[in-house]
Amino acid sequence: MPLRPYDVVLIGGGILSATLATLIKHLEPSWTIAVYERLPEVGAEASAAWNNAGTGHAGLCELDYTTEKADGSIDIEPALELNEQFQLTRQLLASLVGAGILRDPATFINPVPHMTLARGRAEVDFLRRRHETMSAHHLFANMRFSDDPAVIGEWAPLLTAGRADSEPIAATRDITGSDIDFGELTGQLFHWLRWQDVEIHRNCEVRGLRRNNDGTWQLRVDWRTDNDRLTRKVDARFVFAGAGGGALKILQRAGIPEVQGYGLLPVSGRFLRCDDPDTIARHDAKVYGRSPAGAPSIAMPHLGTRIVNGERALLFGPYPGANPRFLKRGSLFDAPASMRPDNIQPLTAALKQNKELAWLLVSQVASTRKKKLAALREFVPEARAEDWTMITAGQRAQIVKPDSEQGGVLEFGTEVVAAHDGSIAAVLGATPGASTVPTVLMEVLERCFPRYSRLWEPRLRALMPTLGQSLAKDARLARQTMAGTAEALGLAGRVVG
Ligand SMILES: Cc1cc2nc3c(=O)[nH]c(=O)nc-3n(C[C@H](O)[C@H](O)[C@H](O)COP(=O)(O)OP(=O)(O)OC[C@H]3O[C@@H](n4cnc5c(N)ncnc54)[C@H](O)[C@@H]3O)c2cc1C
Repeated sequence: MPLRPYDVVLIGGGILSATLATLIKHLEPSWTIAVYERLPEVGAEASAAWNNAGTGHAGLCELDYTTEKADGSIDIEPALELNEQFQLTRQLLASLVGAGILRDPATFINPVPHMTLARGRAEVDFLRRRHETMSAHHLFANMRFSDDPAVIGEWAPLLTAGRADSEPIAATRDITGSDIDFGELTGQLFHWLRWQDVEIHRNCEVRGLRRNNDGTWQLRVDWRTDNDRLTRKVDARFVFAGAGGGALKILQRAGIPEVQGYGLLPVSGRFLRCDDPDTIARHDAKVYGRSPAGAPSIAMPHLGTRIVNGERALLFGPYPGANPRFLKRGSLFDAPASMRPDNIQPLTAALKQNKELAWLLVSQVASTRKKKLAALREFVPEARAEDWTMITAGQRAQIVKPDSEQGGVLEFGTEVVAAHDGSIAAVLGATPGASTVPTVLMEVLERCFPRYSRLWEPRLRALMPTLGQSLAKDARLARQTMAGTAEALGLAGRVVG
């Protein structure tokens, strides 16, 4: 017999589901919500601290969000857009701290300067011009530039120690950057949600979905107990597949036409991690370089400070690789099982267009530790092999979708896919990722609950006061907002300029 129909069922216990459940509880406290997570713990897949890089992506350091136009000027629009999205995230986090839903901000977010490193004459020249354009905008007014190795060495000694004098280098640094432990954040949100009568079922995998005659959904849930495996049926008026890499599978099982033609390209990630106290003490920054030729933003090499459970460590990577799993603890059959007659052509076309990327992913699997250390030494010339251990991060599942001209395209952003009646939705893709969850969820709410938008708008503004306004256009509002959230979250940097 089906259990009672819930107003909302969330499949998966990562940062997306945790944030959406928190928003819905704020908007409609009386709605019944249940979460089903296949693993024994929530926040244990891509959102877990060591399964991602923990960068609060704000467009401060990622070269891929700025491009050179034909006339030599620099297009900073994508970086501005990302920064605005991250400002919403900061506002939501600050409000949740203020409301006592999240604990001391230092448990999940910490100030860590964001830097970009340029090597070689052409890159140095690009970074200088990029800085000129970016720092003229109030959202990036804190960004500093230097091509003096002595200054860069003060900002990040590991970058310059042992580096040949003959190599031209430059860097930008923005002290308003942050490191975020998304796993801790997820855990704190679920802790609060439990007290709000949200049911959180672990060891429960959603394996089937079908429409009921009244338009609600019936979910088939595999329930694992210590010595048994039960199947339960659960009814829901609204389903959110916050299943990370597993979201496509859920939508395919639901059979909604909106997902036809979509496929995923799974990409594994590995990092080198350093726990040596002396090395850690000499670095306090997230330093991003340029992705290798032909590689997307997910391959942007970076050396980053991590703060997890109050402990500092360093991370270098990622080393993306080919792996057919859609989740770190997924199945080797994930990719083959997701193939359908409607997505074979888009997948084949996308692979053909991205041969260089495919080669990079395959070759990384075979790449030796020696080669990986050589990549690290481009950032940290004096890195000692014994200080760095290899860890496996989460899986990213990049979107492949149909394209009328090219047959199919590979995309690196995120995309909300929802049924026409808004009864089920999911977010596909993984970039820029956890940093922009509130923005992505605003789209989910708008598309799935249009009837509520006028009612909910002021309630959402109570959490994110600048919602619907442009911080890129309103310098005063931007400064005020950034100063307020910096104070509430213990982040660095009074905004200047
Ligand atoms: C290597 C790497 C580096 C990254 N770096 C950054 C970064 O620096 N900054 C940033 O902002 N973002 C980063 N990201 C992206 C970020 O980690 C993800 O966007 C984010 O964690 C996704 O959250 P989620 O809730 O959608 O998915 P997840 O955290 O993966 O959660 C999905 C959950 O759904 C569960 N699930 C799946 N299928 C089912 C099912 N059928 N039934 C029940 N449960 C199910 C899974 O077990 C899992 O717990 C990175 C990701 C990777 C992989």
